[in-house]
Amino acid sequence: MTKKIVGVKGMNDLLPSESYKWLWLEKKLSDWLDLYGYNNIRTPILEATSLFTRAIGEVTDIVEKEMYSFTDKLNGDELTMRPEGTAGVMRAVSEHNLLYNATQKLWYIGPMFRHERPQKGRYRQFHQLGVEALGFSGPDIDCEIIGMLNHLWQMLGLTGLELHINCLGNKEERARHRGALISYFETHMDILDEEAKRRLYSNPLRILDTKNPALQEMVNNAPILIEFLGEDSLIHYNNWKLGLSDLGINYIENHRLVRGLDYYNLSVFEWVSSDLGSQSTICGGGRYDSLVLELSGKENYAVGFGVGIERLLLSLEAQNKLPSKSGHDIYIVNDGRGTANKALVIAQKLRNEGYSVIQNFGGGSFKSQFKKADNSGAKVTLVLGENEVLNNEIVVKFMGTQEQTLINQDDLVKNLGNLFKA
Ligand code: ATP
Ligand code: MG
Repeated sequence: MTKKIVGVKGMNDLLPSESYKWLWLEKKLSDWLDLYGYNNIRTPILEATSLFTRAIGEVTDIVEKEMYSFTDKLNGDELTMRPEGTAGVMRAVSEHNLLYNATQKLWYIGPMFRHERPQKGRYRQFHQLGVEALGFSGPDIDCEIIGMLNHLWQMLGLTGLELHINCLGNKEERARHRGALISYFETHMDILDEEAKRRLYSNPLRILDTKNPALQEMVNNAPILIEFLGEDSLIHYNNWKLGLSDLGINYIENHRLVRGLDYYNLSVFEWVSSDLGSQSTICGGGRYDSLVLELSGKENYAVGFGVGIERLLLSLEAQNKLPSKSGHDIYIVNDGRGTANKALVIAQKLRNEGYSVIQNFGGGSFKSQFKKADNSGAKVTLVLGENEVLNNEIVVKFMGTQEQTLINQDDLVKNLGNLFKA
């Protein structure tokens, strides 16, 4: 027997029992983004590998060990399946000159790919909603970004999320902090793990991001960046915090928060849920002005975030905030032969009126058809037998009360209108 082919590990099928939740959420998200003036952008899943190594940073978890990279054997191109969305969007913005005398508020949603150990809330293909506000120096827009996320949680009925914030300053401030960090880590060489040692001189900040429990205490006592910030960065940070307070948003200052990608400066934040165990970050973001320069060669401003859709859905599920699958309006029972064509015509007429209609195909006993009608969740079942077709009549059965009436087909739309209004 040939071996059965199964899906790729960590990449999930979304079956109808789940996908309706996605459609529901995606609609909510696009309506919400509209309220804040964001426009949709769609970029390819494949990009040049060098885009990600440059944008995300060589010495990061993503670039070192999580990317799906390959050589296109047809032409030798080095390609990567996007592990995140910002780099591709910024590439497109620069390529199409979208910031020429303009600002941009952009959003996208789609699959991202990271070769991680699959577990609840962590997959190899997962989905992100991303937002990029480009050309605004802040901190006012940094406040709006947090305010809009807070509004989203409210709209979805999600509670118990914690907002963690920090300020990463500018390049010079980070360089001074980096020097202090290296000196500090050098005094703890004996306990550094392999990864930390490897990153000690290339990217010591990343050591603060370690998930190794044995290093936590040492990392907790490391010098913090906030002590190295100059006046401009502190003013930006304080004005951000004041704006958040004006919006009535609670936050936790977490000076250890560095985020997993290299491109951030000034504002960084994460929204953390208590419903998700260790995969607790639903949304992460911040400011990445330097990435614009890196990818376009021009100074400009950028701030944004990514929301993990799977994790958002898991939190909504845990808090019982997802809708149950909505049924269809109408199911049409018929004999599958002589009455089927009449059923087709009636179904079409009802769809033109806006009803969602399922017609029974292939005949079968009326009893088995009624069972299917029940399972479809239809509010109304219509029955077309031979007699009904001959007399231009139809049986209308209201599934709620099981009441049924025989009516003239010409009165059907009016009759249904009354039933659905009630
Ligand atoms: P984590 O610390 O959990 O690995 P991250 O810092 O790598 O997260 P980001 O790169 O900031 O995550 O991505 C933004 C959001 O995308 C995360 O907050 C999370 O909700 C989601 N996310 C990231 N990686 C995965 C994954 N492998 N599976 C599912 N969701 C993910
Ligand atoms: Mg990660």
